[in-house]
Amino acid sequence: MVVVLREGATSAQRDEIARMLRNPPAIEYIRPVRSVAGEVFCVPTSAMRPGVRAQLARHPAVARLIPISTSYQLASKALSPVKTRVKVGEVVFGGGDPIIIAGPCSVESEEQIFEAARFARGAGAHLLRGGAFKPRTSPYSFQGLGMPGLEMLARAGAASGLPIVTEVMEPGLVGAVAALADVLQIGARNMQNYPLLRTAGRSGRPILLKRGPSATIEEWLLAAEYILAEGNANVILCERGIRSFDTMTRNVLDLNCVPLLASLTHLPVLVDPSHATGMRGLVLPMGVAAIAAGADGLIVEMHPRPDEALSDGDQSIDPATLRRLVHQSRTVRAALRESASLPLDDGSAGPLVSPDAIVESVQI
Ligand code: PEP
Ligand code: MN
Repeated sequence: MVVVLREGATSAQRDEIARMLRNPPAIEYIRPVRSVAGEVFCVPTSAMRPGVRAQLARHPAVARLIPISTSYQLASKALSPVKTRVKVGEVVFGGGDPIIIAGPCSVESEEQIFEAARFARGAGAHLLRGGAFKPRTSPYSFQGLGMPGLEMLARAGAASGLPIVTEVMEPGLVGAVAALADVLQIGARNMQNYPLLRTAGRSGRPILLKRGPSATIEEWLLAAEYILAEGNANVILCERGIRSFDTMTRNVLDLNCVPLLASLTHLPVLVDPSHATGMRGLVLPMGVAAIAAGADGLIVEMHPRPDEALSDGDQSIDPATLRRLVHQSRTVRAALRESASLPLDDGSAGPLVSPDAIVESVQI
């Protein structure tokens, strides 16, 4: 249940509502937060004492009550049927145009990241990515350049005019990373690192939340809920492939989740075809497929010389492929938008194959 407060509710009224909702008193998480629906309290419906709902409905500081049956509340589409738009400078995630984030897996040197930034910009990408703190499977692999790498990324972003996205792996570094990065990435391996989610939620920066390699969609939305519950409404989900039995590709890109999420949540959804496939030859076709499925954008690994990359070179595309990906993404989105206004067989206007039409037909 989400309790939406009226604008101008007083702190005495907030305290009173919190007291009404807190039962047993150990539920400390009951406090007002900013959300897409305004200032709200969130409570599991099962934690509501009988009678409280009716009392709340009459309370002068309560604008409305939204019953939400799912475990995630602030992330639910029931809270806001309109897609959340996450603004990063001039760029808008969830605004209709496919947003492309591109750059190397890791920042390797000042020269490499400046070159990558120039190529990303030239290809029409909107944001620059680059890992400085790297979650590597082996402790013997390149671990990233750390703070100096982040500073290089920030300089390359500023020089190219592209906002930057980078991963933060530990709560203690959130402040330092948020001081330089425009968007904080929570990596797949950390999707359920709850102290990290809470701290990142308080950073004031938009969060790109990757799906854990074995996380269900519900677990992923609950991870987003941790960030939203800190009052940070700027969460972007990112599907990056899930574990499967097949070892032919690094992961399996779960494209099902793209139209499905559009029916479950108001949050924008990106797809990472680099980590999802592990093969650079699959990044372009699967990236375009993700846009066709209704993704709000892509994050891809692009290296000026993929064969020389210190990490994830096999799945990194070159600048020419990035240019093609940006162009094809725009073309596919425009074609779907155009066909959305085609008349149906019976002559009436209606959506045919737009992403929205796909979502409407999803049965959950
Ligand atoms: C990355 O983006 O470089 C990365 C490590 O991604 P993921 O967390 O999805 O594996
Ligand atoms: Mn990588």
